[in-house]
Amino acid sequence: MLPRISVSGQTATWQKLLAQAINSPSELLEMLHLPANALPLGQLAGRQFALRVPRGYVARMRKGDPDDPLLRQVFPLHDEEILLPGYSADPVGDLAAMPVPGLLHKYHGRVLLVTTGACAIHCRYCFRRHFPYSDANPANHDWDAALQYIASDATINEVILSGGDPLTLSDQRLAPLAQRLSDIPHLRRLRLHTRLPIVLPERVDEALLDWLHGSRLKTVMVIHANHANEIDATVATALSRLTQAGVVLLNQSVLLRGVNDSVRALAELSERLFEAGVTPYYLHLLDKVQGASHFDVNPAQAQQLMQDLRNCLPGYLVPRLVHEHAGAPSKLPVY
Ligand SMILES: *Cc1c(COP(=O)(O)O)cnc(C)c1O
Ligand code: SF4
Repeated sequence: MLPRISVSGQTATWQKLLAQAINSPSELLEMLHLPANALPLGQLAGRQFALRVPRGYVARMRKGDPDDPLLRQVFPLHDEEILLPGYSADPVGDLAAMPVPGLLHKYHGRVLLVTTGACAIHCRYCFRRHFPYSDANPANHDWDAALQYIASDATINEVILSGGDPLTLSDQRLAPLAQRLSDIPHLRRLRLHTRLPIVLPERVDEALLDWLHGSRLKTVMVIHANHANEIDATVATALSRLTQAGVVLLNQSVLLRGVNDSVRALAELSERLFEAGVTPYYLHLLDKVQGASHFDVNPAQAQQLMQDLRNCLPGYLVPRLVHEHAGAPSKLPVY
């Protein structure tokens, strides 16, 4: 039986909000009561990877503060146009680990399905900002090749829906995919890697909760917040509805200079996440993707931050500091 979908064919509230996302740097600065020259705009960077940020997320930024940690995550700065050696377009070796288009099989037991290239927000540090989504989109053929690959390998017990952001796809697309996955007997877990509950909490609506709750598979959602200010009351409500639907919530963050590179910011993020029912999972060292060098925190400083964090939080609120190495059999812990 297919999970029930409340109103098929209609535009959901979240889809309308998504369509109203801000894409103009000058409009964003104006909304924040900042002068047009408050931040050095990267014209070229902004053309290659456009500004995109939902209005609800902008509302959580501090007015009049060009250094706001949420603003820094989305504003295309001139700094992005600095090309440095060691920064590449595919820093994590994704293109070498694709047995069928859009399906990454790097680690034992789990595969990652690139369901879409679209995101609700464009994070300037994103390691997938240069990913050739249009060539590697498994949805082009209704995911048939990816599903066949998964069905034919019984060592796979978990499928990760990723992207881009899988929750930018409609529930009319996702619910049947989840159903087809749950029909594969050796699968035990369905995981979603998504930033939507944070950047567009309206996405967590009845239609989504319905199919998540209805699945035979244990569902895990790894959300992505980098700073405590991203979690306001609307986000907390969305997260608690997910928990009530039986979804296990974890968070991954990226360690970002000027955003969360202090023990105070990281501790407050963990505290706020836990209050919202989310366990801190990974803290990633920045992947060295072209255009993101101004976010880099060096490993020695990152290790010191982790030590300070362990000294002020219970162990279960300390995320694992990890780094991704192309070709490695797991994310690698950084000690
Ligand atoms: C990060 C990642 C995973 C998930 O790794 P976990 O350690 O299980 O969270 C799986 N596949 C790919 C390709 C990944 O990049
Ligand atoms: S939501 Fe995730 S995939 Fe999309 S731009 Fe941000 S970090 Fe990248």
